[in-house]
Amino acid sequence: MAEAATKYGLTGLQEMFPGLVCKPDPDDKHFVVGDDLRLVGPVVFTSGGAEERPMLECDYAIKVIVPRAFPTQLPRVYSTDGQILKDYHTNPTGDLCLGPPLQLHAILREEPSLIGYFVGAVVPYLYRHRYTVLHGGEDPPGWTDLAHGAPGLLDYYEAELDVRGYRACLALLRHAGQKQRTGRRAPCPCGSGRSLNACHYKRMAALRQSAGRAAVWRAYLDLLEQGPPRG
Ligand SMILES: [Zn+2]
Repeated sequence: MAEAATKYGLTGLQEMFPGLVCKPDPDDKHFVVGDDLRLVGPVVFTSGGAEERPMLECDYAIKVIVPRAFPTQLPRVYSTDGQILKDYHTNPTGDLCLGPPLQLHAILREEPSLIGYFVGAVVPYLYRHRYTVLHGGEDPPGWTDLAHGAPGLLDYYEAELDVRGYRACLALLRHAGQKQRTGRRAPCPCGSGRSLNACHYKRMAALRQSAGRAAVWRAYLDLLEQGPPRG
């Protein structure tokens, strides 16, 4: 237990959500330290109160799979009480779509613990869901909404990188995610014809800084695999 608690920052999370228990119990002799950690149970909290957002009572039953490579890899969160339907923001794998992976990696770089992930991503997601249920599908005031799935992800990259289009996003993510990069005087991969230094150098450096190079590289591979959004 001690190893898992230290590795994932479990203690703080369970103080916040006492209902969340480890399955299997790390004290169980079958539990392998370093294996994926499963947390199951209710999360009950009150959130809101800032930026014209009402305080709301939230009560959800969830399952969290924390990969052994946490915080380098992202935890996946599932709704287990049927409150969050598939056609809400969920991934094709059935887990909750908590946001663009690079944003989630940036949250974990800031605070590499489960509590950081919950406060930064899981609680806001559940609050938003609760709000939409109570307000006929409306998002909370001032919520930055992304279209669902692939188009939403591209919107996110376009905003983060300040560029338009699938090909330019792909080229910039590839460049930013590479271990070996060309010098600042080379042409910018976005295709503007300007030098990197005069174009996307700072944007890409900021993305690498916030999410980590390896996460940017995975985002590039994901976007490549996904292909350009249709329509
Ligand atoms: Zn550029």
